[in-house]
Amino acid sequence: EAKGQGKGRRVAYTAEMDQRTAEQSRLAADLRAALDTDQLRLLYQPIVSMPGGELYGVEALVRWTHPERGPISPGAFIPIAERTGQIVPLGAWILEQACRQAATWLDELGDAAPRTVTVNVSARQLREAGFAGEVDAVLRRTGLPPHVLTVEVTETAVFDGGAALAELRAIAALGVSIALDDFGTGHSSLGLLRSCPADILKVDKSFIDDITEGGQHAVVVAALIGICDGLRLRAVAEGVETAEQAAELHRLGYRFAQGFHFARPMPADAIAAYRPPVVSRMAAI
Ligand code: C2E
Ligand code: MG
Ligand code: MG
Ligand code: MG
Repeated sequence: EAKGQGKGRRVAYTAEMDQRTAEQSRLAADLRAALDTDQLRLLYQPIVSMPGGELYGVEALVRWTHPERGPISPGAFIPIAERTGQIVPLGAWILEQACRQAATWLDELGDAAPRTVTVNVSARQLREAGFAGEVDAVLRRTGLPPHVLTVEVTETAVFDGGAALAELRAIAALGVSIALDDFGTGHSSLGLLRSCPADILKVDKSFIDDITEGGQHAVVVAALIGICDGLRLRAVAEGVETAEQAAELHRLGYRFAQGFHFARPMPADAIAAYRPPVVSRMAAI
């Protein structure tokens, strides 16, 4: 009977949803413990300048090793932390940790230290009243000069309300750099881009992927470097995986890039020994 069937399907659907919800609340509970018991750490992925093969900066990326399940990717647990609000204490820990590391690099490596250390900040953190004050406090506690820190936010996080933009302006006023992450995947207009205190624009990997195959995104990537030059933004190409892509980006005028072609995220103590490959124009031919 149709009615019974429909009901049965609804029951199955609900059970599946319950299971997912249970799984997510289990992860949320485990995450609470993770912060207190040393299960989280930061890796750092080099951002390099082209064509010289010099380290320009690093992006801090959080890693969670669950005691029973092993590594859980940030793509899986950051969205949960954002929903539960746990991203606020978690993000505070990440910011402090990264600033402490940046100050250590300055001490130990001097001129060879990464010139900027980038920290991802969620929309939820940006909406917390007084977040800029917290950034200021962390800089003072760690003794890190503000210009060494870059706060990285997605365009969606900045443009979804007035409060986030005001907080971002307050952070920029401290002397901290602002990067717009995953640029091109959200829905901000170029007009909004001008109203945002951004210094760096990170062109999303999805645009980089097909540029050497005559894909349609090559046009977007070429246009974005012109926009960045015009608005005095520093363009960073994200997710560069091949020498051919690097060469093509260099040919288009890009001076900064990040991706597995250059380096994977690595522990802090591996950064000093890292030497980026030089980008050759020949690879494009
Ligand atoms: P994102 O900020 O856009 O970071 C770049 C992601 O792309 C990283 O993944 C990085 O490992 C990966 N990636 C870099 N180069 C390449 C490449 O050439 N090929 C490919 N396939 N991937 C590449 P990860 O570390 O898994 O992080 C995923 C996302 O999770 C980040 O995207 C960011 O949105 C979020 N996330 C990571 N760490 C943090 C954090 O400390 N705080 C916050 N709020 N979010 C974070
Ligand atoms: Mg990022
Ligand atoms: Mg990104
Ligand atoms: Mg991304």
